[in-house]
Amino acid sequence: MGEPEGKLAVLNRVMRIPPRAIELLERAEKEMILFLNVRVDDRTVITADAFVVYHNTARGPAKGGIRFAPNLTLSEVRDLAERMTWKTALTGIPFGGGKSGIAVDPKSLTPYAKREIMREFVHLIRSELVTGSYIPAPDLGTGPREMAVIYGELHIPECVTGKPVAVGGVPGRREATGRGVATAARLAAQRMLGKEISECTVAIQGFGNVGSWTARFLSSMGAKVVAISDSKGGAFDGDGLDVEELSKHKAETGSVVGFAEEISNEELLSLDVDILIPAAVEGVLREGNAGDVRAKLIVEGANGPTTPEGDEILRERGIPVIPDILANSGGVIASYIEWRSAKSGSITSASEVYGTIDERIKLAFERMAKLSEERGISYRDAAMAIAVGEVVRAMEERGWI
Ligand code: GLU
Repeated sequence: MGEPEGKLAVLNRVMRIPPRAIELLERAEKEMILFLNVRVDDRTVITADAFVVYHNTARGPAKGGIRFAPNLTLSEVRDLAERMTWKTALTGIPFGGGKSGIAVDPKSLTPYAKREIMREFVHLIRSELVTGSYIPAPDLGTGPREMAVIYGELHIPECVTGKPVAVGGVPGRREATGRGVATAARLAAQRMLGKEISECTVAIQGFGNVGSWTARFLSSMGAKVVAISDSKGGAFDGDGLDVEELSKHKAETGSVVGFAEEISNEELLSLDVDILIPAAVEGVLREGNAGDVRAKLIVEGANGPTTPEGDEILRERGIPVIPDILANSGGVIASYIEWRSAKSGSITSASEVYGTIDERIKLAFERMAKLSEERGISYRDAAMAIAVGEVVRAMEERGWI
């Protein structure tokens, strides 16, 4: 998130943050650097760096996904853990912020190797998991299968979320982040553009878990999804893409490319649409291209898709940005329901999960929009001010400051 010092100092102009709180929030509470050494067959040993970061646990145990990504660094995991602190605080979920990751390319691994790596990772952080200090979930490069491996090693249902439904997961968790992004886009269209979502055109960067479910939910709400891309390129149709057919095309060919008129990822980001949803990786809206954005509204599906420099340009140009800590919080909201169900042994339906996501996001959205309008600050600063306020309150209650 750029330089945390700068960011909290800026917020200090909007609200008074006790200096002790700034000191605690500017750094992570706990960081673990691990080295994995895993034999995956008679001829192959895979080695990889792994990281676990707890940014702040004043409001509850560290919650956040496990990422498998080549070139992953401690600072990236640190940044993502911090985002989880704000996300859980903003939406009122009783968790703190954590994240973990293994520096491997998931595409280069066989399913067996992936399982073995996961098992080794569980062994290395076993005590964190069995005590419930860290509760992982899927993130980039991981999914329900990997969460099932964690459950299989520990046999504690509440120690991990995002499990397959057949292994104690909740229906609706898989599509939860996309559900929340679509809900945030619907609310933002009404409030910021004065339009119903069914009257909006949308471009989505990314067709993984978040992008594909966002596209499906938005289509079912009547929005016209005119462009979607993945890492290989994009597909464009001014009359709207058939998202189900596009999913089949991707399943058959491995990419969205070739389904409709081809566009590049950069072209997608500068399309003249109502809503642009970056739902792939970090840092795609930056100094070099934020000036070319023609969308009227941006909804951040990915974690950190806008750099601080890009954000500044969008702010000057008056393009509202619904920040990731609100827009993509549907995943962790559903994780909370799964964790609660696992602890109580209750059964939950997908409609209940969707209902809770919509309700939590709407509450946080209205708080954010109100503060932003009252104080004349950006939606991101308003969301951050609310989240920081909640965490500071918890730290005070716990006698940390
Ligand atoms: N990885 C997701 C995120 O970044 C979900 C985290 C969770 O459910 O714990 O929000």
